[in-house]
Amino acid sequence: MEIFQMGWSPWIGCVKSSPGCLRCRAPKQIKRNTFDFETPLRWREKKRIQVCPWSDFYLEQADEWRAEAWQIIRLTPWHVYYITTKFPERIPSCLPPDWGEGWPHVRLGVSIEMHSFEWRAWRLLDIPASLRYLWTQPLLSYLELRDVLATGEIGWVMCGGEHGPRYRPMRMEWALDLRDQCLGTGVPFFFRGQSAVVEGHQPWLVEPDGRRTIWLEVP
Ligand code: SF4
Repeated sequence: MEIFQMGWSPWIGCVKSSPGCLRCRAPKQIKRNTFDFETPLRWREKKRIQVCPWSDFYLEQADEWRAEAWQIIRLTPWHVYYITTKFPERIPSCLPPDWGEGWPHVRLGVSIEMHSFEWRAWRLLDIPASLRYLWTQPLLSYLELRDVLATGEIGWVMCGGEHGPRYRPMRMEWALDLRDQCLGTGVPFFFRGQSAVVEGHQPWLVEPDGRRTIWLEVP
């Protein structure tokens, strides 16, 4: 089972800003996606929605469209929205005026691909949200997130390797170590798959003794 059921792209296109972006296939040109902008209004059944899978919700280049996107989200409280970013420093200035302690149906997450970007998790903790999560894919190094997880302010962690013909391999011990940090702090851990040419066919962890552990804990 996947975390998200649908992707919603009110805009597409992005700027490569971080090592995790290296193989990203988001287009370079950033533009409003008129075709998809109001799609969540048409989904009458509850969906778990990944926001901006081909961009970043907080891009400066999208400032002029964001209020309208928030309005779509505001009008569809039966969905659950997941907004993942590599720019948590931009979140406070991009939130809607009535955000308060966080809208109940909106989850905020940060993407952390390697040790040097763990600071993004701390920035996320400064922002009120009904639930916060960490998205560690493509995982490119060991992460040390114990202190962040021990705050009890992170709802879940997702981990996975890179995909595509020139993927950078994820070492299984990085994922196992992160899984153990989550177990030790009581944070749900979701393993999305090993690095591979094709996405999504190995949703298991290989334990040091060779056993495979299936981790499909959906938040
Ligand atoms: S921030 Fe995300 S969408 Fe943008 S280039 Fe990087 S990986 Fe791609």
